[in-house]
Amino acid sequence: MPTFRRRKPRPSQLLLLIVSVATASALHAQAATALDLHRLEPADIDTLQAILHTLEPSITARRQDGTAVLLTWEELYEPLGPPQRAFLDAFRTLRGDQLGATSHYFGEPESPPALVPVGRQQIVKEGVVTPLDPQYLPAPVAEAYHRMMDAMEADLGKRLLVESGYRSAAYQLYLFLFYLPKHDHSITETNRFVALPGHSEHGAPSRQAIDFINEDGINGEDHPEEFEALPEYRWLQQHAATFSFHLSYPRNNPHNTAFEPWHWHFETSP
Ligand SMILES: [Zn+2]
Repeated sequence: MPTFRRRKPRPSQLLLLIVSVATASALHAQAATALDLHRLEPADIDTLQAILHTLEPSITARRQDGTAVLLTWEELYEPLGPPQRAFLDAFRTLRGDQLGATSHYFGEPESPPALVPVGRQQIVKEGVVTPLDPQYLPAPVAEAYHRMMDAMEADLGKRLLVESGYRSAAYQLYLFLFYLPKHDHSITETNRFVALPGHSEHGAPSRQAIDFINEDGINGEDHPEEFEALPEYRWLQQHAATFSFHLSYPRNNPHNTAFEPWHWHFETSP
């Protein structure tokens, strides 16, 4: 399978990056101290809305062509103005342990990881066929995933699909911002459901996470117990460890993270 690597930024993008980093740094201290972790200030909510409004069309397009999950910091910052960039910069300094969470800080990969596409996937819900957005995994994880699904199919006649695999840190921040309004603009509350960049197993190739969805489109996102009730979930509980996949967030986990029966990470020596 072809190996996917990120494009090198063009010189003009590099210049833009240098300018944006310098600008963001100048404004950074002010923005970082201004972030209210329990509920964003009205001015910050306005900035957030402007950011989401600006980014939404390109993110939607990139989801469909499969490049959203590979978004770079340069690409995230490029369409934004200085105050918006400073706002993002303030988020990038946040650490989970400031927010009452014990989620581990994995950092960001030093170089773009070598990823392989999972392949074409589709769900069939009430007779309607819907393709899933393209997903990528580090090669050893993809190989273990496909072997695990072959075994599940032999036992159950069913496979689980990859609804979300690798996500770059920049895309992770976009997701965090996207979900903030749904959690009353509370950073601490949002963090129970979406990890900050650098804190997600989806962006940590050495501990790569997969969010599963079944072939009928059940992912448990709104009702975790729906995924928990699936025979596919029970099969994972019995067999996933054989393939080096482990449930990251069981019920009542010590990480102050919501129960996520669909989220399993790959780790060969836990
Ligand atoms: Zn996940």
